[in-house]
Amino acid sequence: MTAMKSAYKFRAYPSEDMQSILNRQMFLSKELYNLLLNKSKEYYKETKKTLTEYRMNIWLTSLKKERPEFQELYSQVLQNVSKRISDAYKSYFSRCKEKKAGAKAKVGFPRYRKFVSSLTYPQLGFKAERKRVELSKIGRINYVNHREIEGKTKTLTIKKTKSGEWYITIAVEKKDIIPSTNGKPIVGIDLGLAQFAALSDETIIQNVKITKRQRRHIKNLQQDISRKNKGSINRKKSVKKFAKYTEHITRIREDRLHQISHNLVNSYSFIACEDLSIQNMVKNHNLARPISESSWGNFTQLLQYKAESAGCVAVAVNPKYTSMTCNECKNVQKISLSQRTFVCEKCSHTENRDINAAQNILERALGPINPNFNSKAVKATEGQSGSDASEDHVRPFARKAIADERGTIQVAS
Ligand SMILES: [Zn+2]
Repeated sequence: MTAMKSAYKFRAYPSEDMQSILNRQMFLSKELYNLLLNKSKEYYKETKKTLTEYRMNIWLTSLKKERPEFQELYSQVLQNVSKRISDAYKSYFSRCKEKKAGAKAKVGFPRYRKFVSSLTYPQLGFKAERKRVELSKIGRINYVNHREIEGKTKTLTIKKTKSGEWYITIAVEKKDIIPSTNGKPIVGIDLGLAQFAALSDETIIQNVKITKRQRRHIKNLQQDISRKNKGSINRKKSVKKFAKYTEHITRIREDRLHQISHNLVNSYSFIACEDLSIQNMVKNHNLARPISESSWGNFTQLLQYKAESAGCVAVAVNPKYTSMTCNECKNVQKISLSQRTFVCEKCSHTENRDINAAQNILERALGPINPNFNSKAVKATEGQSGSDASEDHVRPFARKAIADERGTIQVAS
């Protein structure tokens, strides 16, 4: 069964009295945030372990006796502050991991807050009616509910923007609103340098090529810069022109990634990709690789967030040996980067190198589900034991919230 989380955002109009209560509670939340962060930093220094949300909440109980002002807040709103810190740590560690794997990720340790601008009620303590919400320990707040709320209400967040406007976001969970599968075929994808991707069903997706005209234009703009005196205003103008044009080219590439991922999730019900967070040393010698890697990262993220609503499942598998393994007999052999065709030394199976890899990727993804699966002919053969598929070879993509322009947040869960 699939559950879809989404959120409704409404403009709220708290009265003056309500605003001062809200401001006071957000101030206390900030105080608590910094206290808890300090506590978990100390704990980490001593034990080299992170303070769990559970432990933070235990400490919170004793803190409330020492600092009774925290009792002004609803208990679950306070506990949500622990969750925020715990989430900040989790995202810090996952970004560290991404960076280790070569991804371009900004890694910053959770920082002390100058202010907190929202309060979250998880599950309990609020009642949303047609024209107003009732919040425990705060009161009644008017809001404009322009859409009917569908699904089971999960959390309520009240937020103040920088310009002083108030918004209420109600997160809900809807079950079975979309088909869990679109019934389309399954596929494995090998992302490559020679072409953008090779699919296990022998489809090849070409790279976005820069046209001759575009290349000439880039060259002209570069020459333009070099002709101008360093530090001159004209040079600055040329630099800006060049930057604008390269951004334009980047946008074309990004549009293409959107297009490819959109087509894929609508053409297949199951997509297996390489797990880009696992380093694949064999492939790591090409100069073009870093550039491709960054677009691969964007691409797999797009796949992941477009998949569920299209009735598709996208998974990432360990890419180790996928280019070196014969998809037919599972023999592992060396293959140089220049060799475009895989010819098996053992069974003489011959296949385009990247399509062979894509077939191995699909098989690895399906391994834990059906070890007898052979991606080539979708034939359930008797006991194919060569595959080293195991649980830790497959992982679902990390789930990230993607907010669209209308302020609706869709998170696959
Ligand atoms: Zn073979």
